[in-house]
Amino acid sequence: MIMTQTTKDDSLQRAKDYVDGVFKTVQERNPGEVEFHQATKHIFSSLVPVFAKHPKYMKNGILERISEPERLITFRVPWVDDNGNVQVNRGFRVQFNSSIGPYKGGTRFHPSVNASIIKFLGFEQIFKNALTGQPIGGGKGGADFSPKGKSDNEIMRFCQSYMTELVNHIGPNVDIPAGDIGVGAREIGFMFGQYKRLRGAYEPGVLTGKDVRFGGSLVRPEATGYGLIYFANHMMHDLGLTFEGSNVVVSGAGNVAIYAMEKAMELGAKVVACSDSSGYIYDEQGINLETIKRLKFSGNGQVASYLDEHPHAVFHDNCAEIWNVPCDIALPCATQNEIDADIAKTLIKNGVKVVAEGSNMPSNQEAIDLFNESHILFGPAKAANAGGVAVSALEMAQNSMKLTWPFEKVDKKLHEIMLNIYHNAVNAAEEYGYPGNLDVGANIAGFIKVGDAMIREGVV
Ligand code: NDP
Repeated sequence: MIMTQTTKDDSLQRAKDYVDGVFKTVQERNPGEVEFHQATKHIFSSLVPVFAKHPKYMKNGILERISEPERLITFRVPWVDDNGNVQVNRGFRVQFNSSIGPYKGGTRFHPSVNASIIKFLGFEQIFKNALTGQPIGGGKGGADFSPKGKSDNEIMRFCQSYMTELVNHIGPNVDIPAGDIGVGAREIGFMFGQYKRLRGAYEPGVLTGKDVRFGGSLVRPEATGYGLIYFANHMMHDLGLTFEGSNVVVSGAGNVAIYAMEKAMELGAKVVACSDSSGYIYDEQGINLETIKRLKFSGNGQVASYLDEHPHAVFHDNCAEIWNVPCDIALPCATQNEIDADIAKTLIKNGVKVVAEGSNMPSNQEAIDLFNESHILFGPAKAANAGGVAVSALEMAQNSMKLTWPFEKVDKKLHEIMLNIYHNAVNAAEEYGYPGNLDVGANIAGFIKVGDAMIREGVV
């Protein structure tokens, strides 16, 4: 059948009405959850052409089902601080979608954590995990606990208490948490120790991001940052751009930011600025990464102390102003909603050519629209930062085979996965009428994989 323009317009309108209707329900059912609304609205709007072309997703209620978590667990996390005072935090785990594999996603310990943030992260994770090509569903967890200023013993007691409840809901074939903001190898180690004790069994596949001495994968610490640079490099290559000789600005100075800086520098870029929650540093000679690693990996150092060793550098106490620093390539790697329309305009005015997202949802919709209108190369988080969870899936594979792969092998697989994600996003964008729009392409490619699985698995 030849589709006339009128029938095509009708299908698009029906798809748009469907999307608007489901989004209204999401808003009503999750009042006040602004981050969750932001993430669902963003993804839903990308999917209109998919529903117009394939009404089966509407008929099977895929959007209604995919935006409602399979399970949301909220629990009390009581612990005793070093002064003997009882403290209480709130823990979360959202098990969002298990159609293509067990739930998989990080754990965030930060005072801002609430149901909205965990649900936005868990929702994004469904599509990101599908893009990796690995058999993993979407989940996320965390607590409104700040590890800052806590002793190792306090962190251990908190992690043990968190796991004492979580143990009832996870397992190597059920749900496999990993790290995120505030949760690194130390916290994963404490949680794994408690899980092992409570289960009475050694099941390394229950958590990823473990120390290599007990089942961790080589390259997992580097994976998100390295993967981001591999992705950006592929994206740039097609336009004849390169990291070599480029000026780069990276927000954050945590796990993702540090390894993104490392790989960008390895490819010949000059990273001139990075930040943490206290402010940002600008070093026109190029950031000295060894100093940043020493400050941020060992203890509670702040980037301002960088000036003790590099007095020619400059510190500004407003971290959001890092985007005033002119650069060719901007890599937000700190947290959500770092870049709004005003910041996007500043970046564009200052000549940015590439924006690739290491953190989750760092750019809001207006910023993304501005990047697209100005033909800035834009690498969306769920594609560009998928390297971390991809290597987590490789960690699970190694755990189940009781094997440890060498660094080069994991790094090569990571590289291949990032290239595949890039191609899948490019192809989906092209097929659905948004050539070059990797944001729309990534959303569509991830959705189709999960949506098709959901149809085949029936209404569950
Ligand atoms: P970390 O806790 O290791 O680091 C976060 C860094 O960001 C810290 O340096 C923190 O500063 C800084 N920061 C926090 N808020 C701000 C802010 N408003 N402005 C500037 N800096 C800020 O977390 P990760 O590196 O693991 O995670 C960073 C982002 O990447 C998150 O969005 C996370 O969801 C995402 N991500 C992480 C993955 C992973 O594998 N770890 C995988 C995929 C995505 P301070 O030290 O002062 O607290």
